[in-house]
Amino acid sequence: MQLAGVADDGAAHDELRAAARVPRRGVAGAHGELGAAILRPDGRVVVGLPSPPVHLVSRPVLHAALLDGLPAGTVEWSTPVRDLADLPEADVVVGADGIHSVVRAAVTPVAPRPLGTVALRGTVPGAVASVTETWGRGRIFGITPQAPDSTNWFACFRADLLDRRPAGLSQAQFLGELYRDWHPAVRRVVGAVTDDGIDRRTLLDLPPLPTYVDGRHVLVGDAAHAMAPNLGRGACESLVDAVCLADALAAASSVEEGLRRYDSLRRRRTRPVVRLSRLLNRVSTTRLPGRRGPVLTGVP
Ligand SMILES: Cc1cc2nc3c(=O)[nH]c(=O)nc-3n(C[C@H](O)[C@H](O)[C@H](O)COP(=O)(O)OP(=O)(O)OC[C@H]3O[C@@H](n4cnc5c(N)ncnc54)[C@H](O)[C@@H]3O)c2cc1C
Repeated sequence: MQLAGVADDGAAHDELRAAARVPRRGVAGAHGELGAAILRPDGRVVVGLPSPPVHLVSRPVLHAALLDGLPAGTVEWSTPVRDLADLPEADVVVGADGIHSVVRAAVTPVAPRPLGTVALRGTVPGAVASVTETWGRGRIFGITPQAPDSTNWFACFRADLLDRRPAGLSQAQFLGELYRDWHPAVRRVVGAVTDDGIDRRTLLDLPPLPTYVDGRHVLVGDAAHAMAPNLGRGACESLVDAVCLADALAAASSVEEGLRRYDSLRRRRTRPVVRLSRLLNRVSTTRLPGRRGPVLTGVP
C-alpha cells in the first residue's frame, strides 16, 4: 500500500503528524484580558469562553510546518488537475482539492450551495491578545491575534447588504459605516483596514455527501465537508481527516477496508459540525431591528 509521494505507511503516518510542530510557530490566542469572548456591539461581554491553550496558525505557517516534514520534491506546485485521467496510477487518490473539488465532481453530482452571506477578512498592524467575536444587528466582527505584530480580523453579514453598498463608497469605507458605532476595539481595527487588504468570500457549504469514498478515490477536507466558517473548524477538521485516513490505511489489511473505516468515522463526525456551522452562520447574520447610521438608512 502506498500513498502518492510518500515512501511507506509508517512515513505517511509520521509526516502527517508534522502539524504537531505548529504550536511552536503559531501565536498564542485567548490569553489576553478577555480570553476568548463573544461581545455586544457596545463591548459588553455576552459570554466569556473557557480559554484552553490555543495556538492560532496562519495558512503560510501551517504550510511551512507540513512541508518541513516531507522529503524535498514531494509537492508539485502549480500543476492543476483538470481531469482524474491527469493523475498517475496510485492505490489511493486523495481529493484534498477544496470546496470546488475536481475529484468530488468526478464521483458525485453533489455541489456546494450558497449560504447567502459573505465574509470579508484581512490583517492589520498591531497585536491583540484576546480572541473576540462581536455580534449585533445581523453582522459579526471577529478579532484574533495573527502574529506577534499583526491582528487578524473578519466580518460576516448577508451578501445583499454588500450588494447595496452606496455608490462611491469603497469596501473599506462601507465597513467603517457598518461598524461605525461598535465598541472601540472594532472601530480601531476597521479604521486600519484598506481596500487592498480585504479578502472577500461569498460563503458556501456542502450538502451531506452519501459517501466520502468511491473506489480508490477518497475525499478529505472541504472537498468532503465544506462548512460555514462560523465555528472556525474547517481547516481543523481537514487535518483530522488526514490523520484519520493515514491511521485507517495503516491499520487495515486492504485499501478498501481502510477507506471504508475512514468513511464511516469521518462522515459521522463531520456532519454535525457542518450543520452547526450553518446554523451559527444563519443565526449570527439574521437581521435584527436597530439604529442605522446615515449611510445605511434605507438598507434593510
Ligand atoms: C472566511 C473564512 C474563514 C475561515 N476561518 C477558519 C478558521 O478560523 N479555522 C478553520 O479551521 N477553518 C477556517 N476556514 C475554513 C478553512 O479555510 C477550510 O476549511 C480549509 O482551508 C479547507 O482545507 P482544504 O485543504 O480541504 O481545502 P483548501 O484550503 O481549499 O485547499 C485546497 C488546495 O487544493 C488546491 N487545488 C484545488 N483545485 C485543484 C486542482 N484541480 N488541481 C490541483 N490542486 C487543486 C488548491 O490550490 C488548494 O491548495 C475559513 C474559511 C473561510 C472562507
